[in-house]
Amino acid sequence: MVSIASRRSFLQFGLSAAGAALAPRWALAEATNAPQQAAAQDDPGKVPVKSTKLAENVYLLQGAGGNMVLQTGADGLLLIDASYAPAVPRIREAIAELVPAAPSAPSQLINTHWHQDHTGGNEGMHAAGFSILAHRRTRDRLSHPQVMKLFHRTVDASPAAALPTQVFDSTMTVFRNGDTLDLVHFAPAHTDSDIYIHFKNANVLHLGDIWFNGMYPFIDEGTGGNIDGMIAGSRQGLEIADNATKIIPGHGPLGNKEELAAYHEMLLAVREKVAGLKKQGLNEQEALAKKPTAEFDAQWGKGFMAADVFAGIVYRTV
Ligand SMILES: [Zn+2]
Ligand SMILES: [Zn+2]
Repeated sequence: MVSIASRRSFLQFGLSAAGAALAPRWALAEATNAPQQAAAQDDPGKVPVKSTKLAENVYLLQGAGGNMVLQTGADGLLLIDASYAPAVPRIREAIAELVPAAPSAPSQLINTHWHQDHTGGNEGMHAAGFSILAHRRTRDRLSHPQVMKLFHRTVDASPAAALPTQVFDSTMTVFRNGDTLDLVHFAPAHTDSDIYIHFKNANVLHLGDIWFNGMYPFIDEGTGGNIDGMIAGSRQGLEIADNATKIIPGHGPLGNKEELAAYHEMLLAVREKVAGLKKQGLNEQEALAKKPTAEFDAQWGKGFMAADVFAGIVYRTV
């Protein structure tokens, strides 16, 4: 097992200083299963979980790690994603505030994909009575050590209690608390394990890490991620959503269709530029020297991913 060290080591990986400062908590978790070894100010156990009501019985939960969604009702609690392990007490506090008397029906956790900033809390939520559902590849990847290529890091296999006990391959429908939830696997995009969850009645769509709202996305090329999958995945999101749909990105603020469309257009444009340079025979370094993302950096380059790191992933996966 390898631990992530510090902001400094992120900078050594070529990530932007602004990104490392703005989003170190989930950035660390994308890279490691040892967030507790991060600097004290980045301790996910100390980040409160904020809730935002999206529909009568659906809430967005935001703290450390990826964005979560809670559905409440007599059929039992349903939670999408579980941040990482030290955040579990903060998640449980936020749930207890919204639902002081938990229903006796069994609770369900759904993972959007295998990354630790979405599954690190699996074991703790399982201990709190949640059974875990995900795509088959999420279980497969959590069952074995994984290499995060961009960060030169290996993530340990998860304990048995953290593994999904119910998996699906393509699509699944869940009827719960008066709503119909469509769970659909994306073709490899951010990883090869990504799914979306669409609450059809509440008109809430969780896209997982297919969408980084307002910033260049991280794409995990070491576990199946690639730019064309991200473009296709964000297009799928646009096809499902209408102008009133509340769309949850894996990271960043609650969004809508217009914002998702702008992100999709940016991905398409960067892909075209980078693919054009690659087609001309430029190697990765030469292509990056042409600053293919220049016109987008002011709007999209302030997040975790530095422009040239993002462009490099696009080059390698296009
Ligand atoms: Zn994430
Ligand atoms: Zn991720």
